[in-house]
Amino acid sequence: MTKEQLTGDYKTYQELPLTPITSVNSATNQTGFWKIFKPVLDESKCIKCTICWKFCPDVAIKMDGDEFPQFDLTHCKGCGICANECPKDAITMVMEAE
Ligand code: SF4
Ligand code: SF4
Repeated sequence: MTKEQLTGDYKTYQELPLTPITSVNSATNQTGFWKIFKPVLDESKCIKCTICWKFCPDVAIKMDGDEFPQFDLTHCKGCGICANECPKDAITMVMEAE
């Protein structure tokens, strides 16, 4: 893509150049930089049920053995699905800057 194409003043999607926004998938691309909110775990509430791990659409939650869920913030996009699905309200979404 040329610099002119990248900085073009597009009025409609039909005017966009025929190229994807990115040429690599999320395994390579650090999509975590897109997020505004990040998940924070309250271990005192977590019962290690694995529901957050099952629902995360970005495979950004790791659960090894009997450990608490760990968030991979380089790939978590901050969607909040884990917090929404947690039956114990153990995950809170907070602003990235906090
Ligand atoms: S869904 Fe909630 S309670 Fe279950 S493992 Fe995840 S954080 Fe813990
Ligand atoms: S906020 Fe979304 S992407 Fe991030 S860990 Fe939770 S479910 Fe996964």
